[in-house]
Amino acid sequence: MQQTIGVLAFQGDFHRHLTVFEELGLAVRPVRRPEELAGLDGLVLPGGESTTIGKLIERFGLLAAIRDAAAAGLSVMGTCAGAILLSRGIVGSDQPRLGLLDTEIERNAYGRQVDSFEADIEVPALGPESLRGVFIRAPRYVACGPAVEVLARFEGAPVIIREGPHLALTFHPELTGDTRLHRYFVEMTRTTSC
Ligand code: GLN
Repeated sequence: MQQTIGVLAFQGDFHRHLTVFEELGLAVRPVRRPEELAGLDGLVLPGGESTTIGKLIERFGLLAAIRDAAAAGLSVMGTCAGAILLSRGIVGSDQPRLGLLDTEIERNAYGRQVDSFEADIEVPALGPESLRGVFIRAPRYVACGPAVEVLARFEGAPVIIREGPHLALTFHPELTGDTRLHRYFVEMTRTTSC
């Protein structure tokens, strides 16, 4: 059966994620309302501005709806701002969040002078070829709970993590043409959904 992947489509880089999954042969759906979560196998929270996206999902009833859907088995992948929204703790912030991952994350942690950079990341779970990471005002994990599996690090800090059915990364995987992380997530939704 064809999988359906939803992408939260309020703000940020959601178009590219939709295109990547579409090109991989999946059914895709932009998500802006709680009803649009029905029947999804996976949901992507794109990069953007986590405070803006958090306020919008709260206002549109999606904060509670995504939590409920996740409790019922929906896999979620958060990239950059999406990783911030997935984190239980956000350093110095009480902004709205889903908090599905047992992590503490620091926003804009790589400093203003290097707002953006690219780096080759070793990701053993994706094979021997390194992955080009595009970090745009990226956050950094400062703590991860015992159930969190670290799939890749950069300068010692986790940049791709997994906890149960959820995946989070602190960079933008949709900008390089390398679709291995998107495919990895689709594979996760296959093995975790019933
Ligand atoms: N700096 C943004 C935030 O704190 C995240 C940046 C991004 O998603 N590229 O929400």
